[in-house]
Amino acid sequence: MRLSRYFLPVLKENPSEAQIVSHRLMLRAGMIKQASAGIYSWLPLGFKVLRKIENIVHEEQQRAGHMPMLMPTIQSADLWRESGRYDAYGAEMLRFKDRHDRDMLFTPTAEELITDIFRAHVGSYKDLPLTMYQIQWKFRDEIRPRFGVMRGREFFMKDGYNFDLSKEDALHAYNRHLVSYLRTYERMGLQAIPMRADSGPIGGDDTHEFLVLAETGESEVFYDSAVTDLSFGDRDIDYDDHAQCAGVMEEFTNLYARTDETHDPDLFDKVPEERRRVARGIEVGQIFYFGTKYSDALNAVVQGPDGKQVPVHMGSHGIGVSRLLGAIIEASHDDKGIIWPEGVTPYHCGIVNLKQGDEEADGACEALYASLTALGLEPLYDDRNERAGGKFATMDLIGLPWRITVGPRGLKNGVVELTSRRTGESEELPPEEAVKKVAEIYANL
Ligand code: ATP
Ligand code: MG
Repeated sequence: MRLSRYFLPVLKENPSEAQIVSHRLMLRAGMIKQASAGIYSWLPLGFKVLRKIENIVHEEQQRAGHMPMLMPTIQSADLWRESGRYDAYGAEMLRFKDRHDRDMLFTPTAEELITDIFRAHVGSYKDLPLTMYQIQWKFRDEIRPRFGVMRGREFFMKDGYNFDLSKEDALHAYNRHLVSYLRTYERMGLQAIPMRADSGPIGGDDTHEFLVLAETGESEVFYDSAVTDLSFGDRDIDYDDHAQCAGVMEEFTNLYARTDETHDPDLFDKVPEERRRVARGIEVGQIFYFGTKYSDALNAVVQGPDGKQVPVHMGSHGIGVSRLLGAIIEASHDDKGIIWPEGVTPYHCGIVNLKQGDEEADGACEALYASLTALGLEPLYDDRNERAGGKFATMDLIGLPWRITVGPRGLKNGVVELTSRRTGESEELPPEEAVKKVAEIYANL
C-alpha cells in the first residue's frame, strides 16, 4: 500500500473524549471513528488489524477442530422466552419490533439460537462431540460504554458452543478451548492469564476468564506472580487427547489467579507473600461449562448408546475480538504511539523515502516495495511529499514493527536503514539484506 493513496486520517491533537491510551491512539492513528456512543466505524487501518485478529482466532479454532458458521445478528424473542432469558437479560438487551409487531432483538450472545439448530438436526450420540463457533457482531446496551472498543455497545466477538454426551466429554471441550485460547493470545503477542471467575447471567458450573494485565483494566485481579512465567510456546498439541489437554489446563490454572468475584483471601494468604499480586486486568475471553442448563430448558436431547434420551452437556466460549485491539495497544505502546506485535500488525514493514522525487531514492523504494510484496509481505510505503520528521511521526504513531528508511546519502554507500519500532535500534545494510531480514522475522511466526 502507498500512503499517498491510503485513507489514514491521523489526528495531531489528543482527542479529549479518550480517557485511556488505547482509545486515544486508535483515534489518533485513524483506525476508528465513533458513530454513536459505543458504536464505531472501522476505518481501513483499524479494519486491517481487526481482520488479522479475526483470522488468528479462525485458524486456532479450526486447528482445535471447531467448525465455523454464522448466525444472524437479529433474532426473534421467541427462543429467548423459551429459555427464560428474555425477561432475565434486562436492559442490556436491545429489543425492537418488526413491521408485523413481532418482538425482535439484536443478539448479545447466541446460546438459544445454536441450541435450536442443534435440536432440529441432531438426534443421536453418534453425531457427538460437536463444536461450532462464529465470529459475529454482538450488541449489549451497556450502561457506560467507554474506553473505545474496549467497552462498546456493538462489538465483534467469537462465540463457540460445544455439545457433548457426557460431562467428561464436555470438560474435555472446556480444556480444549482453554488450550486453543492460550495459543490464540500468544500468537497476538499477548499474555492472557486464565483466572477462575464467576459465571454471571450465562450461568454454569465452571468458568475461567482470560485477563491481560493492564493498569487500565476494569477487573481487579489477585494472582501468584509465578503465573506470569508460564508460556505456551510452540508445543505440539493433539486436541483429541483428553489427558494432554487436561495437563495443560492443570498447568495453567493450578496457581492462584482469580478475579474479585471469586477471590478467596484465605487461599490467597497461602501464596508466598513475595509472589502475591493485586492488579488490574482486561478480560479478553471467557470459557464456560454449564452442563445441561440450556439443553434442559430447550429440550436438546439425543439418544444415548443405551437407547435412552438424554440432555446434552454444553459449554460456551467467547473471545472479545474487537476488544483485543484495545488490549494489545494497552500492553504494547510508548509515548510516540502503538507498537504492533508482528502477529497482528496491519502492514509488515514501513518504507520511508527521505527524499521523494529524487530519482535514485524513488527507484530504491519501488524496488524494496516490489521485493517485499513478491515475498508475500505487505509493506506500507510513505511516498508522500512530506518532511522526514512528519513521516517518522506517522510511522511511529501507527506502530509498524519494522521500518526501512531510504535516503540519497545512504544509497551512495549502497545501504538503507532498518529500524525496530520496539527497541528503536537501527542498522545500515544493503537493501536486499534488509528485505531478507524482514522476511526472516515474519517467516518464524
Ligand atoms: P464484561 O464482564 O467485560 O462485561 P462479559 O463477561 O459480559 O464481559 P462475555 O459474555 O464473557 O462478556 O463475552 C465474551 C467476551 O466478549 C468478553 O470476554 C470480552 O472480551 C468481550 N466483551 C464483552 N462485552 C464487551 C463489550 N461491551 N465491548 C467489547 N467487548 C466485550
Ligand atoms: Mg465474561
